[in-house]
Amino acid sequence: MKRLHAFTVLSWFTLCLSGGAPVGPVARAQEPSPERTQPPSADGKLNIIAFGAHPDDCDQRAGGVAAKYAALGHRVRFVAVTNGDAGHQTEGGGALAARRRAEAREAGRRIGIEYIVLDNHDGELLPTVNAREQIIRQIRQWKADLVLAPRPNDYHPDHRYTGALVQDAAYMVVVPNVAPDTPALRRNPVFMYFQDGFQKPNAFSPDIAVSIDDVIDKKLDMMDAHVSQFYEWLPWVAGNLDTVPKDAAARKRWLRDTRAAAPTSAVRAALVKRYGAERGNAVRHAEAFEICEYGTRPDDTTIRKLFPFLP
Ligand SMILES: [Zn+2]
Repeated sequence: MKRLHAFTVLSWFTLCLSGGAPVGPVARAQEPSPERTQPPSADGKLNIIAFGAHPDDCDQRAGGVAAKYAALGHRVRFVAVTNGDAGHQTEGGGALAARRRAEAREAGRRIGIEYIVLDNHDGELLPTVNAREQIIRQIRQWKADLVLAPRPNDYHPDHRYTGALVQDAAYMVVVPNVAPDTPALRRNPVFMYFQDGFQKPNAFSPDIAVSIDDVIDKKLDMMDAHVSQFYEWLPWVAGNLDTVPKDAAARKRWLRDTRAAAPTSAVRAALVKRYGAERGNAVRHAEAFEICEYGTRPDDTTIRKLFPFLP
């Protein structure tokens, strides 16, 4: 009964959104049906898209799995929803945005993925319909099978609103009358959240945990491309800019020492569940993801398809 009710409500909702209401139906009725993107698995490769608020956010949360996908020939696109033009202590504006765009491109190149930077101002992102449509278009153009994004619980408003915007794009990506300049997807992708440490109103719950021990160097290499962030802005904010080595090799070691954290106890439990006790307990570096309820809910077969490197 509960399911039937949910279906009825959903159908009604779809009808309302798809122009079933009598607003301008005559002109629309004579137009051909909007083109719909076909299921994107024709060549057997996955299309993964990840959204971060700033150029360097996706790298920290999903750089490891991105390297693993790329190594298997799957397509990955990282999208920074803002251009990062506020993230520096001595630089800013268009010059900083250009620098960060180049850093993001280089980071993507280092692991073999695409990196897109949208031109929204850093520190000013809001969950507007315009921004939502930017996200919807990105997901549709990429024909995404899996969408990754932050949860809307975070210290930074741009992070929170990126989470909210991606949530708001879930389901809407299949509605042809929304952002009608970009063909709608035929099915709602799977959406998952990046790991974070925030506890309220609820803590991150790792549904999937992936060992990235085999690609941790690639991930650090990717992060190393964001010079303005990892070696300048973030240490300046933390008050430890004087501890950053000048020499390129030494600062990369410093990056590993300060950024390559061990799995939390919740992530460790998820690793053990998936890899077994011996392998799961031996993992040194992991990335974890929580299933978002607003995307397609993946069963175990789908999870295995979406994370082909899991045992
Ligand atoms: Zn950020």
